[in-house]
Amino acid sequence: MGLDWQELYAERFRFSQESPLGNVLRYGELPDMISLAGGYPAAELFPAEAFREAFDRVLATDAKVALQYSSAEGYLPLREYLVDRMSRFGIKSSPEELLITHGSQQGLDLVARLFVDPGSLVVVEDPCYVGGLQAFNSYEARYVAIPTDEEGMQVDRLEAALVDGQLHPRLIYALPNFQNPSGSTLSLSRRRQLLELSHRHRIPILEDDPYGELRYEGKKLPSLKSMDSEGNVIYLGTFSKILAPGIRVGWVVAPEQVIRRLLDGKQAADLHTSTLVQRATYEVCRQGLLDGHVAKMRPVYRRRRDAMLRALTEQFGSGARWSRPEGGLFLWLQLPHVVDSDAMLQDAVAEKVAYVPGSAFSPSGEKNSAIRLNFSSSTPEQIEEGVRRLTRVASRWQEKLAEGKGPALRVNLARAA
Ligand code: PMP
Repeated sequence: MGLDWQELYAERFRFSQESPLGNVLRYGELPDMISLAGGYPAAELFPAEAFREAFDRVLATDAKVALQYSSAEGYLPLREYLVDRMSRFGIKSSPEELLITHGSQQGLDLVARLFVDPGSLVVVEDPCYVGGLQAFNSYEARYVAIPTDEEGMQVDRLEAALVDGQLHPRLIYALPNFQNPSGSTLSLSRRRQLLELSHRHRIPILEDDPYGELRYEGKKLPSLKSMDSEGNVIYLGTFSKILAPGIRVGWVVAPEQVIRRLLDGKQAADLHTSTLVQRATYEVCRQGLLDGHVAKMRPVYRRRRDAMLRALTEQFGSGARWSRPEGGLFLWLQLPHVVDSDAMLQDAVAEKVAYVPGSAFSPSGEKNSAIRLNFSSSTPEQIEEGVRRLTRVASRWQEKLAEGKGPALRVNLARAA
């Protein structure tokens, strides 16, 4: 008889479930599928030639070092470059306060490892980035879930939750810009209020900012890190959405003493991020390509966002609502609240359109009627056709439910309101 693997896993893995995204992302690979599910940047925009030259140059001039082990904190010139680049956005730091990670996903894992004991409370937005929940789940966090609206996390609700001093969260996990999945942006007054709460209650903020540079309209808002006078904010950055996710290079900015402890975790996890890739990435950046590249991406993504908003307006009937993100890669579509977006996905896939159901982003895993739509990795034509297919499926579901035939979502109306 084979082993009962489930029984042998560590407690924390028995407690957590398999990734809710695995299957959904695989749908994207089926023929003729229009996938509005993944969070992929537009592959046709990757600066492939710049990377080819950079790798060539590094291997031609520095192969002995570039192919060797290196230090856990990351390649110093790349850290210096990032310190300098972030100072343009008002974030003051030094190379000693910056650690290179394997994407910001590793930053989430390292921070969770350092701050979360089994049962620790983490403040998260509801809905929340699924990879953040996965990282915290691995360390058996419990959540204080704060609902979001078009101005991001409803900080008043957090204030109310903290008022009697009974809760002692270890971290506040915040995505202030073009949040994944909702697309919402934390307003300036709420940014101030959140920092004030962090200072008053002495709770660190983990600011996750992969999309800050991908703003298509409206005024740029300062990061929490740049507004923080007391050093409470740990900031996560990444090249994934502004250059390419396949290189897996991100960074953490935090007080030096925190970085030193994160380094212990980094060493335990993978010793260091690829020496070769860090050097090639630095070569690409050194040539000043990044700003021009981001400037090229913005109008492409803006057109795709506009195509999605237009298609939703023209095609979706009453009862559905959606966010209008000023940047980033996603928007959040709220179907009439009896529709179970998990159950509807099978029909959507049969109709050859894929999305991520809202339950993936729910801190409690609760099923709901929302879906996340990505607009960066499909052309405007594909987006229009994808929304048409989605509309067909959603109207069929609404009709079935109206006739009392379909499996209606059992909603907690207090939450759905
Ligand atoms: N945080 C958020 C909010 C994200 O959307 C993503 C990627 N989808 C990540 C972190 C992870 O990004 P990376 O590729 O840098 O690991």
